[in-house]
Amino acid sequence: MKIICIGRNYASHIEELANEKPTSPVIFLKPDSAILPKNHPFFIPPFSNDIHYEIEVLVKINKVGKYISPKFANKYYDEVGLGIDFTARDVQAKCKEKGLPWEKAKSFDGSAVIGMFYPKEELDLNNLTFQLIKNGKVVQEGNTKSMLWKVDELISYVSEYFTLKKGDVIFTGTPAGVGSVRENDVLVGTIEDKEALRIKIK
Ligand code: MG
Repeated sequence: MKIICIGRNYASHIEELANEKPTSPVIFLKPDSAILPKNHPFFIPPFSNDIHYEIEVLVKINKVGKYISPKFANKYYDEVGLGIDFTARDVQAKCKEKGLPWEKAKSFDGSAVIGMFYPKEELDLNNLTFQLIKNGKVVQEGNTKSMLWKVDELISYVSEYFTLKKGDVIFTGTPAGVGSVRENDVLVGTIEDKEALRIKIK
């Protein structure tokens, strides 16, 4: 399986990192080795002093698709979930400065936290509230209605470039409030007030 991540999909997050607003979705990939095993802590990697959390809504692809039209995109997923796109922000800043690819900053081991999935019928994907709570304090709060590109548009766009396969997961971008983690932090992600993930930082 592969993980497809969307960057810069919420205006509020684009502003906080002073990024340019894209004219089409920003896409990058994480390999399956990036997935943090279930119930494992996240270990801060030695190559970064600035690991950021990015809470994101996920969709899980349920069948093979290529050149999917937005109209039919909803037939390609039946589960919606929550995850964290861990980012070595210091490494990413260097990559950006030199115009280099982001993989070292975005796709390292443990950088993809995949929490709970829920049947899509249980959630309104176009008006879904989600939060990241760090040590008991809400640090990120988003709603999918603020996405620049909606999930069905993203699936359509991504499938122009990459054949989607059953089990692939799409990370749909993070809202404002990203920040760094330290040893012993506890991160909890909620989706419509349901706890969908819990991670300890080591
Ligand atoms: Mg992200």
